[in-house]
Amino acid sequence: MLGIQNFFSYPLEDLKQYLVGLGKEKFRAQQLYKWVYEKRVQDIDSMTNLSKNFREDLKQILSFDLPKPKQVLDSVDGTRKFLFESEGLTFETVLIPANDRLTICLSSEVGCNMACRFCYTGKQKLRRRLSTAEIVGQFVVASDSLKNESRRITNIVFMGMGEPLDNSDNVFNAIDIITNEFGYNLSRRKITVSTSGLVPQMPRIWESRVRLAVSLNASNDEIRDYVMPINKRYPLKDLLAACKEYTQQTKDRVTFEYVLLKGVTDRNEDAVRLNQLLKHIPCKINLIPFNEHPGTEFHRPSDESIERFHQKMMSYGYQTIVRKTMGRDIYAACGQLTSVYEGRPERMSL
Ligand code: SAH
Ligand code: SF4
Repeated sequence: MLGIQNFFSYPLEDLKQYLVGLGKEKFRAQQLYKWVYEKRVQDIDSMTNLSKNFREDLKQILSFDLPKPKQVLDSVDGTRKFLFESEGLTFETVLIPANDRLTICLSSEVGCNMACRFCYTGKQKLRRRLSTAEIVGQFVVASDSLKNESRRITNIVFMGMGEPLDNSDNVFNAIDIITNEFGYNLSRRKITVSTSGLVPQMPRIWESRVRLAVSLNASNDEIRDYVMPINKRYPLKDLLAACKEYTQQTKDRVTFEYVLLKGVTDRNEDAVRLNQLLKHIPCKINLIPFNEHPGTEFHRPSDESIERFHQKMMSYGYQTIVRKTMGRDIYAACGQLTSVYEGRPERMSL
C-alpha cells in the first residue's frame, strides 16, 4: 500500500495503473481526469457519477492538494504574479498577457544550481526540485484564478525559477498531464521549455514534441564561461550541435534568448560573432534587456544600444524581437523571481 497519493502527480496512464493496483476499474482514471481538469471540480463528494462507495474509497487513496497562493499581485500591465507556498518553500508563477495570448511562466525548481551570474534565482543555491504535483498545481491554481474572467491560458513557458532540464522527469510528467486530451488538452506546440544548456537532457525536448528555447546569452565560450558556468561543462559547440539536431528532428526553429548586459554582451563585436555562431541554425532571437536586481555587477544597456543590437541582428536576416519587460513593478520580470525577499518591497514604483 502506497498510502495516500496526490492526484496531481499522476499522468493518466500511471493513474490507471495505480487504481488497477488497488482493485479499481481502469476507466475511473479518465472519469477523475474529466472532473478535475475539465470540470474543475476537486471535491470528491461533488463527483456525482461516481458511486458513494467509490467516493469513500477515493478519500483513502487520493488527495487533491495544491500549492497555496500566499500572495497574488496584479501589475499595471495585466501581468499577474503568484507567490506559492508548498511544504515550507515558496516559489513564483507569472501570467503574461500579449495580444490574444495568455502565457503562463512556470517554475521548475526553488533556487537553481546553474549559478548564472546575471540571474536573481541563480543567486540562491538549489533548495528543492518541484514535484510533478507542484508544477501542475501552478497551472491549475492560475487557471482557476481566471474562472470569472474572459481570458484563459493559451501558452506555457518553462522560464520561471530553476532549470527545467535539471528536473526533467517531473517537468515532462507535468507536460503529459496538462496536454492530456482528458485534461486541459493544451497543444504541445504551445509549450516551450527553456534551458541553460544541459545538453545530455536536450533530446527529451524533441522526444516530447514541445518547443526549445535556449538561454545563449553570450557570443563566445570565454564570455559564456563567465556569465553561465554551465558552459564549462557543455560548451557552445556541443550546445549548438544539440540545437541543430532539434531543428532537424522537428522542422521547427530554436528560440535563442540573449540577455543584453551593458559592455559585456551588447557590443557590435558580439553581434558579429553571434551571427557567425547562428547562421546555419534555423532560429529566432529574443533579446532580453537585463533587469537589474540588488547586488548585481551588471547594468542594463541604454535604449539606443538595445535598438542598435536589435537592428544589427535584423540586418543579418534573423527574426529578432526585444522582449518587452512585463510586470517589473511586481518583480515578475525575467530574472527577478525569487523565494527570498531580503526586505525588498512588494512593489517597485516605476
Ligand atoms: N533556467 C532556464 C529557465 C529560466 S528562463 C534558463 O535559464 O533558460 C529565464 C530567462 O531569463 C533566461 O533566458 C535567462 O537568461 C533570463 N534572465 C535571467 N536573469 C535575467 C535578468 N536579470 N534580466 C534579464 N533576463 C534574465
Ligand atoms: Fe538557473 Fe536559468 Fe537563472 Fe541560469 S538563468 S541561474 S539556469 S534559472
